[in-house]
Amino acid sequence: MTTKQPLATNLATLPTRRPTRAEAEDAVRTLLAWAGDDPSRPGLLQTPERVADAFGEYFSGYKADARAELTATFDEPQGYDDFVLLTDIAFESHCEHHIAPFFGVAHVAYIPDGRIAGLSKIARVVDIYARRLQTQETLTGEIASAIEQGLGAKGVAIIMRARHHCMAARGVHPPGGMTHTSRFLGEFSANANLRDRFVAMTRERT
Ligand SMILES: [Zn+2]
Repeated sequence: MTTKQPLATNLATLPTRRPTRAEAEDAVRTLLAWAGDDPSRPGLLQTPERVADAFGEYFSGYKADARAELTATFDEPQGYDDFVLLTDIAFESHCEHHIAPFFGVAHVAYIPDGRIAGLSKIARVVDIYARRLQTQETLTGEIASAIEQGLGAKGVAIIMRARHHCMAARGVHPPGGMTHTSRFLGEFSANANLRDRFVAMTRERT
């Protein structure tokens, strides 16, 4: 297969029918039994319902449109020509390989081309893509592309640092090991000085 996956996956466009809530809860019961427990014991009776609710929250990003968040912009008439930087945007996502949480912070900068976004909108874009099944690499790229295209930014830089539960729990990473990913688009990709300033300003503070 050489066709590229579309950036945004919406449940409505998936080829298979979306299972019902009852089917989702049955699936959780099956997993509980497969794990070796008894889904009918009192402590687990409400678990399928809670897991279905939790999935609704963890994966609410499928229903949201990140680019639409960036359509409400402000004109920036003063000719601001440096990057706008948001650091330490906390996020929590789930790895697409184990449905295990990974969480950390994103540092995002963009260079406006006459239009600036409300600051909360950048954090919202991070949240929308985080609330899907992800790899950290894909997540980083999707956020950068959405901001570049949705905002018409002249450049976008992003660094994400996260701890992956599936790595820690399975002993693949030493405890405390962090995964770092980055993406530089437009002027950040072309201009090493700009990139260096961004990296210096987002360096982990101890
Ligand atoms: Zn994993």
